[in-house]
Amino acid sequence: MSKVNQLSSIILWSIFHKTHSYRLPITMTHSHLPLIDLHRHLDGNIRPKTIWALAQQHNIVLPETNFEAFIPHVQIQGSESDLLAFLSKLDWGVAVLKTLDDCKRIAYENVEDAFHAGIHYAELRFSPYYMAMNNNLVVADVVAAVIDGINAACKVYDVKINLIGILSRTFGVEKCQAELDALLTHKQHLIAIDLAGDEYNFPGEMFVDHFKQVQKAQLNVTVHAGEAAGPESIWQAINQLHAKRIGHGVACHQDEKLMDFMRVNNIAIESCLTSNFQTGTIKDLSQHPIKQFLAKDLLVCLNTDDPGVQGIELKNEYRLARQTLGFNDKEIQQLQENALAASFLSPNDKAALKQKVQDNA
Ligand SMILES: [Zn+2]
Repeated sequence: MSKVNQLSSIILWSIFHKTHSYRLPITMTHSHLPLIDLHRHLDGNIRPKTIWALAQQHNIVLPETNFEAFIPHVQIQGSESDLLAFLSKLDWGVAVLKTLDDCKRIAYENVEDAFHAGIHYAELRFSPYYMAMNNNLVVADVVAAVIDGINAACKVYDVKINLIGILSRTFGVEKCQAELDALLTHKQHLIAIDLAGDEYNFPGEMFVDHFKQVQKAQLNVTVHAGEAAGPESIWQAINQLHAKRIGHGVACHQDEKLMDFMRVNNIAIESCLTSNFQTGTIKDLSQHPIKQFLAKDLLVCLNTDDPGVQGIELKNEYRLARQTLGFNDKEIQQLQENALAASFLSPNDKAALKQKVQDNA
């Protein structure tokens, strides 16, 4: 990567970091098509102010006594060295979840945030064990509290939400089984199961049995793969974990056969541009393989990942796609259409959502 490219990436990053999404011009996206976020972590989108308030409420000592000074502990300020350094920024958010009401509150606020970001439909994912572990909450109760918070907020805000349960691979096979058991207790409120966390040290092979159970429960599957590991991790997610969507999938571009297979079988890639820059997965955003994915007609869409931790919103990602990757109107339209097609909504729900947005445009 040239120094100029590196500098322009950093400058662009700092511009959109400081710009709140709803001040962006509406022309960044096509208003007659739904704005959809399919890869959005509920527990990676806890407002810094809420973390601060909950810490005060529960007498939890934070590393700073001043809110402004605390922000860098929970929000990325540039790019991190790697995925694990990025993920560590999420830790304070879950450390302050002392009660089930706190879990309900952050779920509620996630819906508020999605609505204010202009999102019509989001699939919010969360790891109940990660949310429960610091304060010994009952994992299945955390799942119920999140569902309660989402349901309460959806009565107030006009935004469609579905939930994806995460197995946090970083905590190992047994913890993931307990997490899956808790999630399956509430499976009628979930649309899919995901595998997230440390892809490099906890490869998908360790979780084959878990995803057999997911299949038996008739839930959809999306897997974080090809972010910290190579194309073999994506093949494994598809062949052994039955993934219909791949989170990030950056490594796809190294394997022509894999790209062909994904196109033919309609396996989607959930791209998260800023996240890939911030985890150090992509050093120069202007060279992001999403260009290649779109040119090869893959079912790729744009998403946020952890908007609260990243200090971004979905429209910033569309802005990046236009300004840094040079995507034109038609390509932006394709990305929005791909998000609808790749969603886990039923064909009827997809058509209804499209019609509703068109009618209100
Ligand atoms: Zn993710």
